[in-house]
Amino acid sequence: MQIACLDLEGVLVPEIWINVAERTGIEALRATTRDIPDYDVLMRQRLNLLEEHNLKLADIQEVIAGMGPMEGARDFLDRLRETFQVIILSDTFYDFAAPLMKQLGHPTLLCHRLRIDQEGRVADYCLRMPDQKREAVKALHLLKFQVIAAGDSYNDTTMLAEADAGILFRPPQNVIDEFPQFPIATTYNELEAAFATASATL
Ligand SMILES: [Mg+2]
Repeated sequence: MQIACLDLEGVLVPEIWINVAERTGIEALRATTRDIPDYDVLMRQRLNLLEEHNLKLADIQEVIAGMGPMEGARDFLDRLRETFQVIILSDTFYDFAAPLMKQLGHPTLLCHRLRIDQEGRVADYCLRMPDQKREAVKALHLLKFQVIAAGDSYNDTTMLAEADAGILFRPPQNVIDEFPQFPIATTYNELEAAFATASATL
């Protein structure tokens, strides 16, 4: 039995924080795990920027509501779900992801949550657990599933390494250079083919 695990941002939907940066004009919000691999350092910087610019959860949700999945993402996901049980493993937050999940047909999502204060400001973030993508794959192994995983960035590489097969989707050059062991897909057709190849060889 095989399960497919997918990253969310950069694989099915655009980078949420980059969209918020573009809408708000706050350049420093463009940083992602591609730029700052330490997720806590990255999140502290983001929360400080929101505080400095007096941006509340509702402002960010407004931006996210205007985003959609990447072109072809919904069709790809629907096709993948015909073959595999699919779990999305993301380092985003349920507070942010909800409108996008609706547009993706409500696939299973394991991610984190935000702590919102009484004024609607993002006071803190709560990681459900550290390195949750990798831990999820390990837990699926305990349940005797094989796992094929795909992601685009640094924060996916422990998940890809833990999985029985890992695939990079449109990764940046530094990730390609550092992790040459993973096959690369640049279109959804290629990604679907990479899942099929991995599935057949496990
Ligand atoms: Mg990503």
